[in-house]
Amino acid sequence: MMRARVAYGGALHEATPAGGGGEANLRLADGRVLAEDQVIWLPPFEVGTVIALGLNYADHARELAFNSQEEPLVFLKGPGTLLGHRGATRRPAEVRFMHYECELAVIIGRRAQRVARAQAMQHVAGYCIANDYAVRDYLENWYRPNMRAKNRDGATVLGPWLVDAGDLKDPANLELRTFVNGQLTQRGNTRDLIFDIPYLIEYLSSFMTLTAGDVILTGTPQGVSNVMPGDEIACEIDGLGRLVNTIVGDAAFGRRGDAKSCASNI
Ligand code: MG
Repeated sequence: MMRARVAYGGALHEATPAGGGGEANLRLADGRVLAEDQVIWLPPFEVGTVIALGLNYADHARELAFNSQEEPLVFLKGPGTLLGHRGATRRPAEVRFMHYECELAVIIGRRAQRVARAQAMQHVAGYCIANDYAVRDYLENWYRPNMRAKNRDGATVLGPWLVDAGDLKDPANLELRTFVNGQLTQRGNTRDLIFDIPYLIEYLSSFMTLTAGDVILTGTPQGVSNVMPGDEIACEIDGLGRLVNTIVGDAAFGRRGDAKSCASNI
């Protein structure tokens, strides 16, 4: 089953795809059918802890000249960074390189503590698409946490649909594609994950308890490119649909860039 959460007519609703297998229409739980631009799309589930992987595809790691790793490079994201399908993400005027990251998001369905690889997939509720934006200007080194690069307001897009684990035939063999203004710029396959889903659940649950709603963003393949205000970014993953997002400038948010770093103020 594919499920979304949307705001419409002053209320929140669960929704499912409607009409001929296409995704342009959705059906609210009360039966009303709407076009996708009539509603505000929210992340399709109640999101708990967001765990993200850095450099989990060998081709992307090479693209950024990063050598192989023995343990996953993981970091957390806060709730303010989340955004739904068809939302707008701000690009600060002063930055030089902001890029999308199309990723398979794995949603935990039940508590996982010290789970062995063989049982790991029993803890997965389902999957959705993530677009995990990064502003690479702010990624300084491996010692300062990457908050400013990766935990930005509205820069982690999830959706449109949560697809039940049982309905996705093989999460270890899914094509990922990103289109910028309709042009294909990024392509990969989840079979090329350096650390696969069972391993990630085994690894994470060895030192932290995962609970329902926690989500693992599994990393992005090669093909990231700079995006500018006005660009429309569409991320697709086999069986999960198409997640669309627009880049906007500071003015749309009443902003004038980020605060300067402390170092530059000295
Ligand atoms: Mg990422």
